[in-house]
Amino acid sequence: MVEKNEIVTVEVTDMAVSGEGIGKVDGYALFIKDTVIGDVAEVKITKVKKNYGYARLMELLKASADRVELACPVARQCGGCQIQALSYEKQLQFKQEKVRGSLIRVGGFDAAFVDQVMEPIAGMEEPFHYRNKAQYPVGTDKAGNLRAGFYAGRTHQIIPNLDCALGAKVNRTILEKILAFMKEYHISAYDETQRKGLVRHVLIRCGFATGEIMVCLVLNGKKLPHSQALVEVLRSIPGMASITYSINQENTNVIMGNEIRLLWGKEYITDRIGSVKYQISPLSFYQVNPVQTEVLYRQALEYADLTGKETVWDLYCGIGTISLFLAQKAAKVYGVEIVPQAIEDARRNAQINGIRNAEFFVGKAEEVLPEYYDRYEREHPGEHAYADVIVVDPPRKGCAQSVLDTMVKMQPERIVYVSCDSATLARDLKYLCGGGYEVKRVRACDMFPETVHTECVVWIQRKHI
Ligand code: SAH
Repeated sequence: MVEKNEIVTVEVTDMAVSGEGIGKVDGYALFIKDTVIGDVAEVKITKVKKNYGYARLMELLKASADRVELACPVARQCGGCQIQALSYEKQLQFKQEKVRGSLIRVGGFDAAFVDQVMEPIAGMEEPFHYRNKAQYPVGTDKAGNLRAGFYAGRTHQIIPNLDCALGAKVNRTILEKILAFMKEYHISAYDETQRKGLVRHVLIRCGFATGEIMVCLVLNGKKLPHSQALVEVLRSIPGMASITYSINQENTNVIMGNEIRLLWGKEYITDRIGSVKYQISPLSFYQVNPVQTEVLYRQALEYADLTGKETVWDLYCGIGTISLFLAQKAAKVYGVEIVPQAIEDARRNAQINGIRNAEFFVGKAEEVLPEYYDRYEREHPGEHAYADVIVVDPPRKGCAQSVLDTMVKMQPERIVYVSCDSATLARDLKYLCGGGYEVKRVRACDMFPETVHTECVVWIQRKHI
């Protein structure tokens, strides 16, 4: 049995779903951050539990053949890229296996069946610089120098880094210009403990399809002194389209304040996924990896197999990305989303694209869908509400039970399930398969290279007996 602070040598033989390497000492499993399968390492035990423990990498004695050089010098401190040390090919294999494992262990599906329905994971050609959105905290170090970067894992200590390997390359130029402006005009950075200082965060968003760039400074104040000088330096950056600031004077971890003021350009930028245009303002939700979003939604569209006559529901629709994608091939699309602003965006996006066959409801999917079903039954005795296809894209916790129940009652031909958590996906699939449905195809899609997260889309077909 190992003890806390003991140093042991261990071979990493497995990987946890959260990305840590797993190695065993006399049968006792250790979770070791920053290691990958195949490493042999000297590690220090940090926590001992009954059946497993945690350890920290001290020295790599033999590097795994699957290791690659870190693309980012501060990857270990940041913790955002849990598996950057692993070759991209192995990252994809890890994610494919994660989905496969959930389907077997949580879903109770037979391994041979899972291997038959799972398609190869859709990876990226270039697994870096894929994020179109970045939020950098701004602060001052002990020597009084301004800095921007990210919070070191689980703290609010800023590690300077203008060059996140996942973000757009232009971020660095923008941040350098903002920091130089702040220095020249003696504009202070916000200090969380004192609750003093002005600039809290910088939000940058890039429309990868259009080249448009947005910069929004989050301020602990109502005005940005000398803002014209900042506008002058930022507007010379090619693609700059929107410069705003957001007022956030609260003592909170929430980054953005609700009030946005325009400094220059438009209040929003435009981007495209496929042929659908989206207006994105500083507060809008928008998929952070638009390239893979298109891959994922094309797959969803293929699984939905629309001919133009169908009635489709898109539950958990956000700003209507999937709804508008499907509306081009369906008779009617109904979107349901809990956040009212997202529905406002969805409606506006439908309008700017001339899409008239999409209708959006604000509310909880678990209330809107069952209520719609019940009302339909009351108003049309002997009939029931029908949909040809229901698409769901729920948050990590998966679909609420009443959503699953109502879907089964509505008996759509197909259900297309888009998921960011393979465990809850597997749980929900098990339920749907008990309700007269079968899984036809499963495709994982790598929306977040270098991290452990993966998206997945599933074609679920009604069984005709
Ligand atoms: N497909 C969407 C994103 C889906 S993310 C897009 O591309 O824009 C999941 C969405 O579900 C989020 O927008 C979240 O606000 C919403 N949501 C969370 N709980 C919900 C609920 N109970 N009912 C309806 N929507 C919900």
